[in-house]
Amino acid sequence: MIPANRAPTQPIRWQQAWRDAITDPHELLRLLDLSRHASTLPTGADTGFPLRVPRGFVARMRRGDPRDPLLLQVLPQAAERDEVPGFTHDAVGDLAARAGNGVLHKYHGRALLIATGSCAVHCRYCFRRHFPYAQETAAANRWTDALEYLRTDPSISEVILSGGDPLALSTAKLAELTDALARIAHIRRLRIHTRLPVVLPERVDADLLAWLRGLPLQRIIVLHANHPAEIDVSVQTACAGLRDAGATLLNQAVLLRGVNDTADTLCELSERLAQAQVLPYYLHQLDRVSGAAHFEVDDALARKLIDTLRARLPGYLVPKLVREATGESGKRPLSEG
Ligand SMILES: *Cc1c(COP(=O)(O)O)cnc(C)c1O
Ligand code: SF4
Repeated sequence: MIPANRAPTQPIRWQQAWRDAITDPHELLRLLDLSRHASTLPTGADTGFPLRVPRGFVARMRRGDPRDPLLLQVLPQAAERDEVPGFTHDAVGDLAARAGNGVLHKYHGRALLIATGSCAVHCRYCFRRHFPYAQETAAANRWTDALEYLRTDPSISEVILSGGDPLALSTAKLAELTDALARIAHIRRLRIHTRLPVVLPERVDADLLAWLRGLPLQRIIVLHANHPAEIDVSVQTACAGLRDAGATLLNQAVLLRGVNDTADTLCELSERLAQAQVLPYYLHQLDRVSGAAHFEVDDALARKLIDTLRARLPGYLVPKLVREATGESGKRPLSEG
């Protein structure tokens, strides 16, 4: 029995939706009328990066289509087992190596905090499949080590939250960080890299928006959508809320074979983003992590796609084509072809 003086604790809606995510590939195929494709699932030992996809994201997939571009991003494929030269477990090795206090600081003025290792969705192409860095995040120990680092370097004006997905943290945990950031005079901007407003828009709730609105920092949110079909009304509503709370909205995408490697799809993505008042920022060439080779698009095609976008769209709707390079050099623009 619940004591009369204590209301039963309400589960927070987004956390409930997070827990309700689909983790069984057979269930996913069944929901999409694709049970006949079960034989294409990888068999044998678990890869350590199981299927995970929120139900709201699945609802945006086309039923009966095994090539659906949203499905391909999340469904484990037999091709992930292929060993392909050049695709390693260490494609972005510096992340794992330098996450001691959860701070990565290799660009002037900006420090990146690995806020958490959790994600609501497991994207098959992501380097994170090999680095579920559960420990050693910046949020550990009430952010103490990360804050100490930020305090002592006055050249840092922007704090970037990344992960994993930083909005996987509770709003209270985020507030713990930003309360402390607000007392560091040289920090002016907070940037959040997150896929949650796209894959689990329930995360953008009144609590989160109140926190965002109240920040004494400029805020930039970099979303991560790869395909126009990811952006439905629930995502547009989430974007509107974030914008009303004072955030500048940008998007980064990863160029993925079979998902968004045509000019029509990329143009449509830019148009949908523009409708939601989100500007395209980066189009990333794939990180060469083992298990993701089947998604790779060659550089010549990538450059050609960007040229076509440039011819068809206003300049502000053309993302920068970049590749993440291992080590100190960081992001490299792919020069025009
Ligand atoms: C990409 C990245 C940044 C931010 O780079 P921008 O070009 O400003 O988007 C900062 N820190 C690290 C470690 C990065 O990888
Ligand atoms: S870090 Fe981003 S791209 Fe990678 S699995 Fe998480 S949500 Fe997907």
